[in-house]
Amino acid sequence: MEARDQEKSYDPAVAESKWYAYWEELSLFRADPARPGDSYCIVIPPPNVTGSLHMGHALNVTLQDVLIRYHRMLGKNVLWLPGTDHAGIATQNVVERLLASEGVDRQSLGRETFEERVWKWKEESGGAILNQLKRLGAACDWSRERFTMDEGLSRAVREAFVLLHRKGLIYRGRYIINWCPRCHTALSDLEVAHVETKGGLYYIRYPEFSGRRNVVVATTRPETMLGDTAVAVHPKDERYAGRIGVTLRLPIMNRPIPLLSDEMVDPAFGTGAVKITPAHDPNDFEVAKRHNLPAVRVIDDAGKMTGETGPFAGMDRFACREAVLESLRKEGFLVKEEQYLHNVGHCYRCKTVVEPTESIQWFVKTKPLAEPAIRAIQSGETRIIPPNWERTYFDWMENIRDWCISRQIWWGHRIPAYHCLACGLTMVEVDAPDRCSSCGSDNLRREEDVLDTWFSSALWPFSTLGWPERTEDLSRYYPTSALVTGFDILFFWVARMMMMGIELTGKAPFRDVVIHALVRDPKGEKMSKTRGNVIDPLDLMERFGTDAFRFTLLALAAQGRDIRMSDERLEGYRNFMNKLFQAGRFVRMHADDSTPRGLPSELSVVDRWILSRLQRAIDEIRKGIEEYRFNEASSVFYQFTWHEFCDWYLEMIKPSLQPDAPAETRERQRAVLLCVFETILRLSHPFLPFLTEEIWHLLPGERGSILTEEYPEADPDRTDVDVEEDMGHLMEIIRAVRNMRSELHVPTAKRVEVRLKGQPEDLAFLRDHEEIILRLARAGKVVHKEPEYIPVEDATAVVNDIEVCLPLAGLIDFRKEALRLRKEIDKANTEHSVVCAKLGNEKFLANAPGDIVEAHRIRKGDLELKLDSLSRNLVLVTRYLS
Ligand SMILES: [Zn+2]
Ligand SMILES: [Zn+2]
Repeated sequence: MEARDQEKSYDPAVAESKWYAYWEELSLFRADPARPGDSYCIVIPPPNVTGSLHMGHALNVTLQDVLIRYHRMLGKNVLWLPGTDHAGIATQNVVERLLASEGVDRQSLGRETFEERVWKWKEESGGAILNQLKRLGAACDWSRERFTMDEGLSRAVREAFVLLHRKGLIYRGRYIINWCPRCHTALSDLEVAHVETKGGLYYIRYPEFSGRRNVVVATTRPETMLGDTAVAVHPKDERYAGRIGVTLRLPIMNRPIPLLSDEMVDPAFGTGAVKITPAHDPNDFEVAKRHNLPAVRVIDDAGKMTGETGPFAGMDRFACREAVLESLRKEGFLVKEEQYLHNVGHCYRCKTVVEPTESIQWFVKTKPLAEPAIRAIQSGETRIIPPNWERTYFDWMENIRDWCISRQIWWGHRIPAYHCLACGLTMVEVDAPDRCSSCGSDNLRREEDVLDTWFSSALWPFSTLGWPERTEDLSRYYPTSALVTGFDILFFWVARMMMMGIELTGKAPFRDVVIHALVRDPKGEKMSKTRGNVIDPLDLMERFGTDAFRFTLLALAAQGRDIRMSDERLEGYRNFMNKLFQAGRFVRMHADDSTPRGLPSELSVVDRWILSRLQRAIDEIRKGIEEYRFNEASSVFYQFTWHEFCDWYLEMIKPSLQPDAPAETRERQRAVLLCVFETILRLSHPFLPFLTEEIWHLLPGERGSILTEEYPEADPDRTDVDVEEDMGHLMEIIRAVRNMRSELHVPTAKRVEVRLKGQPEDLAFLRDHEEIILRLARAGKVVHKEPEYIPVEDATAVVNDIEVCLPLAGLIDFRKEALRLRKEIDKANTEHSVVCAKLGNEKFLANAPGDIVEAHRIRKGDLELKLDSLSRNLVLVTRYLS
């Protein structure tokens, strides 16, 4: 290592690139199934190959990195497997946009050339996010990096497809699916975003073919009436009693359609009569199946009206809506129009209004897969943390619908099905067959559709480990230990991995599913490009250093609570990083290569105190990490390190480190200091990988990476409740003296007399450690008083059963101090009335944001406390004056 004492402050940029390279050079992240130890494995939620690091990733990856480094230090055989997802529609869109800028479209290139272009794009620009994960310190085994479209994973996809198909869990059929006319593909129910939209509800009169009566139907989508093949009412609806079976005339098209009854109809909606458009509505599709109705497709794949729509053929579907209404109005069929608020499905990729369309697609039969996936959670084989997400999981799994897995795009895993053009047989095979297994023809055509991206992601926990081969990795690391993810993909991904994992491997893919919250802006708003409040994690790492950034995320990562990212927080934790670094320099100054490693047998009371506190911190931090309460673990670390270790312990031991201290004392003190500080570094390495590695190498002695050290374990023999209590009193007394000094503006240089009044047995410990009080309270002497002593002209404070008195004579100028206190009281009074007036103003309470109102309430309380103490001091000071 370079000259150790020259750098004065911590330089994150230099340290971060140096230590990441060092870890990689030593292959510290590389897993080896042959190594001993229980296995601990996490597969990374694969970011899209098109992606770049955002706050959600940063949080997600930081939590995983803490777990990985922690378990590694516990001596487990650890694997963190990284990779990316091919992100079918998203990636295809990126490359299509590139092509458009060159004036080409994918159809003119042809499928094969287009796929080549996507691969080329992937090689050149894809996966940039993986390097950004390294900036965060991610201890991933990069030698095992996978991509959902690589050869092994593609084979796993084909195997899974064939196995499920053979068991009847994948089928092909004609159904209503969600179609995106922009992306030209089917979408699963989950890929449809429902947006509340203002629209119209139109009442249209359908006359009886023979007769004078009418049936009025209500619809939000009048253009689909061109494809109506029936009108339906509820069988118990009195309004239509006796009329079931009559023939109606479909306006405009003049087609005869029946009036029928079906349980599906909600008699409370509109007039109780609904039009049936089997080709464009999933419920109508079911009604049509029950009643053997024909389906007429009136909207094509591009969202244009088909040849079945007479004068409207070729028109855009929304233009057609207006034209149909116009025509209905003219001919007197439009009875009524109302404003109507309803949910409209949009493509989650491109925001185009989805068109429910009847077509032939591939589906996964989900019910039989969902049942064992529900049981795995119920039995505790897999835990969801925090457990309130279980309810959501069960609700969804119990009401699950078949999953449409075919997509009409080019980028993705092509479905391994082969259609015989001679006899019509469809064969599903892992490897392409040469001939038809029925008629022997070699005239075969491969299925054009590709699979939903989530189909390959559903196999991720085991396909990445080598499944379907029985690899060493698979048997060593599967089922995985924890999956860390945001709640937004609980259904898209987690639920499907559960179903596929259990079906294909017989085991649920993870022990724990850890669901984390969302990162929001300082005001608590969701970050979005349109709001312009997106915070770039790379920018924060640049400005504050990666460890400060990670620590901020961890400190705020309370279960079930969203994170508000702010510069104040980051600055605070950057100061903490510097504090730790300075503590490292202090230790380095006193400990050297001759300092013994390990604790001496004889320990001072101060050493026994810090060691006891340290055991508690170790215990609580370990518990915090094991229970995924990262905020609690980091808060304990912060409190212990900053307040107990830096603020108190280092101050208390200074005399025994001085050159004039006895050599033996000094040596002992150095050994304890080094030992405690090393433990602090090991304890925090999972949170602060770069900083701890940097300081670790500043310390004396030959050192390898701190990551290869053991994680601290609490030693119950070092816990000493009595010492903690005694030292606690001592520190409270010092704190009380310091408070009185600062409230009364006693000059820092003035030595005070401290009078301690109490029972002799309560004062014994303080008497023995008077040196600490003298030094840290800046006292000239400490006097012990009997319980009978009455302080008249002393400032006083009570600590437990001891009264701490500070005689003020000769310390301050009473006249000046009284003047100052009166001024302060006036100032505080004025502010107090302003705040109270605001809080009494109903307009303010109604209009100001919640956190502003809350800040006013807090300020009011603070001012009242301050006024209280100022007045008390004024009474005391004027007593001297009179
Ligand atoms: Zn779309
Ligand atoms: Zn055939």
